Amino acid sequence: MKTVLIIGAGPAGLTAALELARCSEIRPIVLEALDDVGGISRTIEFKGNRMDLGGHRFFSKSDWVMDWWQTLMPVETVDGNHPSSALRKDRQLLVRPRVSRIYFLRRFFDYPISLSVKTLANLGIVRLVRIGVSYLGARLFQRKPEKNLEDFFHNRFGGELYRTFFKDYTEKVWGVPCGDISPAWGAQRVKGLSVGKALLHAAKAFLGLFKPDIRQKGTETSLIERFLYPRLGPGQMWRIAAEEVRQRGGEIHFGQKLIRILRDGERILSVETESVDKSTRIWQGDWVISSMAVKDLIAAIEPPAPQNVREIADGLAYRSFITVGLLVRKLKPRPESVPPLNLLPDTWLYIQEPGVKLGRLQVFNNWSPALVKAADTVWLGLEYFCQEGDALWDMPDSQFASFAAAELAEIDLIDPADVLDAHVVHVPKAYPAYFGTYAQFDTIRGFTDRVQNLFLVGRNGMHRYNNQDHSMLTAKLAVDAILGGSTDKSGIWSVNLEDDYHESKR
Ligand SMILES: Cc1cc2nc3c(=O)[nH]c(=O)nc-3n(C[C@H](O)[C@H](O)[C@H](O)COP(=O)(O)OP(=O)(O)OC[C@H]3O[C@@H](n4cnc5c(N)ncnc54)[C@H](O)[C@@H]3O)c2cc1C
Repeated sequence: MKTVLIIGAGPAGLTAALELARCSEIRPIVLEALDDVGGISRTIEFKGNRMDLGGHRFFSKSDWVMDWWQTLMPVETVDGNHPSSALRKDRQLLVRPRVSRIYFLRRFFDYPISLSVKTLANLGIVRLVRIGVSYLGARLFQRKPEKNLEDFFHNRFGGELYRTFFKDYTEKVWGVPCGDISPAWGAQRVKGLSVGKALLHAAKAFLGLFKPDIRQKGTETSLIERFLYPRLGPGQMWRIAAEEVRQRGGEIHFGQKLIRILRDGERILSVETESVDKSTRIWQGDWVISSMAVKDLIAAIEPPAPQNVREIADGLAYRSFITVGLLVRKLKPRPESVPPLNLLPDTWLYIQEPGVKLGRLQVFNNWSPALVKAADTVWLGLEYFCQEGDALWDMPDSQFASFAAAELAEIDLIDPADVLDAHVVHVPKAYPAYFGTYAQFDTIRGFTDRVQNLFLVGRNGMHRYNNQDHSMLTAKLAVDAILGGSTDKSGIWSVNLEDDYHESKR
């Protein structure tokens, strides 16, 4: 029986494994460094509470992805029950409304910024005039050649709106000035979002013309209003996928960190993994699908990749992430909060208050009540962007938890006396960065594309800001290529590049 070695049991790796297990005689063997599935999309359990590492919305413009998820976890009906009583309620995909606002000047602003009366009142007349003038100026007279992210934002939103809402937050996320970030980041993440479209969207919503179905194909990614969410967090989807992989004869091995890839010219012969006790194992396969960070993959290849490829791979940059699960008795009361917990309506908040390092705040109760053990508590996720090895990353967990709680108190969202418990999770390489040696990435791609039985997929696997759905589509295309006997990887690289790709390729 032929085998495919799959590196990583995140969304990309498990999609590849399940597609192979469902559609072929080829056996998938998944090698995962951690002891759980889901990768960055896993769910961490802490004393009966469940943490999502970042708040994972399940939505896609690809029907294939939407259907794939729903074959594993059917969507709840409007009354919250599942159509088939045979299926347990805890295996449902919830339909959640997106409520995410910006917290700035101790006030809540809609995100994406809408030109509502409330936004206008929050901003005040002076700032508003400045925003309007600079927006019109940028649109009508001062378009800049888009050499970096600052130019990208300036051209779409004007300088004042950029400085008010995008600059500090983006720099908090990436740790470098917007002027040093490629405009490709904006093109990929903010896609067609603009003040004009936000206005049109607001007008349609106001007139009742905007009634999104859950697919929301025509909607800009940043404007997606409703999304699916596994009742027990994103990791539940990936645990169910893993169950089916095993039932269909696939293998998943935990605690197996890939450390070496042996090749003979343009073919991979075997890979070597190391477990926590430092014992090593060699695995042979006919193909390798890799979702591990391409930087680590290139460093592991023997005989080594050409020097320029190794240098570029070594220079790839990442942003890492620390999230603190904070259990509190209640939030501080606000006009829009619901007593007795003073729960805010938001699934998450972007924290733009100056003076704190906190980037985003998840309100897990609003993602799924089942993430919270005790209904009379508020379960929060405080998110910090950092670099592996910097002061935040190296801070001991207990100190970090106190620091995070103190920041939340400082910006008036909790009373420190209400903190009940905390759990700190480090997520290395959470964001592949579009700086460092990224501009030369094609050289790496040229090398890996030539290795016939190697397929790079997923987010860090391709060093691309892929969401779960993109990561899954790349895995599907890798499986299609393997089953079709093709070594052409160009289709995989075009996922998440062109807006219409998913539609036209299906
Ligand atoms: C803060 C945040 C919020 C996000 N929100 C959303 C969202 O709302 N919606 C959405 O769809 N996506 C979201 N994403 C993106 C989503 O997390 C990723 O797209 C997805 O997890 C990528 O899947 P993957 O399988 O490519 O990689 P990963 O999830 O990174 O999985 C890779 C796996 O490979 C393993 N691995 C790595 N190195 C090795 C090695 N040497 N040997 C063996 N195994 C190895 C890792 O342990 C991991 O399990 C978010 C990401 C972040 C950081």
